[in-house]
Amino acid sequence: MTCSFEGCDNALGNKGGKGMGLCVSHYVQLRRGGELKPLAKRAPKGSPDARTYKPGRSAAIRAWARDQGYDVSPRGPIPEHIELEYMAQ
Ligand SMILES: [Zn+2]
Repeated sequence: MTCSFEGCDNALGNKGGKGMGLCVSHYVQLRRGGELKPLAKRAPKGSPDARTYKPGRSAAIRAWARDQGYDVSPRGPIPEHIELEYMAQ
């Protein structure tokens, strides 16, 4: 089962989105009261949804990176290679 929004082939969301035939991203759009819009292009279907931003995620990556001996600043973008390594672990 995938999202019912035209052109969106994301898997259905686990929560309210499922009952409405929407993926998490479109469900969130709906909940925000906006019009449903096509999502920005993402990683190919089937790969881990690496780019989904979750609060606290970057903090976790930074903490992990420091454990690995990387020099990461507490603010600002996380170097992509660090993010990729974090996701690959
Ligand atoms: Zn969708």
